[in-house]
Amino acid sequence: MADVASGARRAVWGEGHGVAAVWGAACRGAAAWLCAVRGGAMGWWALVVGLAAISAAMSAGCGPTGESGPGKGGGGGALRVVVSIQPLLGLAKELAPAGSEVTAIIGVGRSEHGHELTPAEAERIARADVVVYVGLGLEPGIARLVEQRPVKGRRVVCFASVVGVEDEHEGHSHGPEEACDHAVDPHLWLDPSLVERLVEAMRVAIEGAMGERGALTQPEREALSSRAMALAARVRALDEEIKGELERLKGRTIVTHHNAWSRLAERYGLKVAAVIREVEGAEPTPGAIERAVVATREHGARAVFVEPQYSAAAGERIAKAAGVRLERLDPLGSGDWFAMMRGNAAALVRGLK
Ligand SMILES: [Zn+2]
Repeated sequence: MADVASGARRAVWGEGHGVAAVWGAACRGAAAWLCAVRGGAMGWWALVVGLAAISAAMSAGCGPTGESGPGKGGGGGALRVVVSIQPLLGLAKELAPAGSEVTAIIGVGRSEHGHELTPAEAERIARADVVVYVGLGLEPGIARLVEQRPVKGRRVVCFASVVGVEDEHEGHSHGPEEACDHAVDPHLWLDPSLVERLVEAMRVAIEGAMGERGALTQPEREALSSRAMALAARVRALDEEIKGELERLKGRTIVTHHNAWSRLAERYGLKVAAVIREVEGAEPTPGAIERAVVATREHGARAVFVEPQYSAAAGERIAKAAGVRLERLDPLGSGDWFAMMRGNAAALVRGLK
């Protein structure tokens, strides 16, 4: 536990406190930049130019950088917490002190891939006390924004850094037109053992942000600590629950909509035979559909799992052609990580029984 806690502290940093070296882990700016190719880097640079203008205007009107950031919203210990994706939203809400404003950048029903920050979203990040994102190129806009526009006192939690998962771009580079097809699976939140470690890192960040506000009394600190312990215990319990449900399905093979499920499959002993959307941001080609049909038959997969963020048409065709069930897995949910994970475990049981 001590290791988890100290790892979490290393992976959470308060900006403007001379801890820029923490960037050395998974969310190193260069790696994030390179992986941004997958998220549409061109749109970003237009935004950067726009943000520079907004920033200049804000500095002119609001005094030195940082004063326009944390410290202006809510009263007492209430914080502004911004997370990137829906699964992190409910977790952050359970930890944040009463009265906090906790929001997600990527809305319900939207894919986590290819999101481009709007100026309003960038502004929300600029004004946040705590920012939580995944890293590994999943949200390149957020990664670049928190690096390039640091805000004094703001806490930034990069999930990949917290759990020590590194981008495989470390040590080499790509040209801007080259795809990074060897990138690690960034869907860290689909493995409860990693989420448990994120909870501790978020606790550290929230505690730090409350301290910045001068709102960290001993009772507040203790209350936050018990919320974090209770949340981590619920995450562990759900992990055990899912292990129990999927135990008898160990070794079974699934076909998934996009390449999101390798961590969950590994944790619970499943195999991914094929992925329908070989490129996350594009509809599957006829070739990809044919390959998925062949793999479904060859590996004896019992079900094809589509996802609500994408069209089910290709999955329906594959399931029909291969003569297997069609089920639905949801990698994002709608703000409740526990409900999302339970729903997915139930879908796996239905599809693979
Ligand atoms: Zn994904």
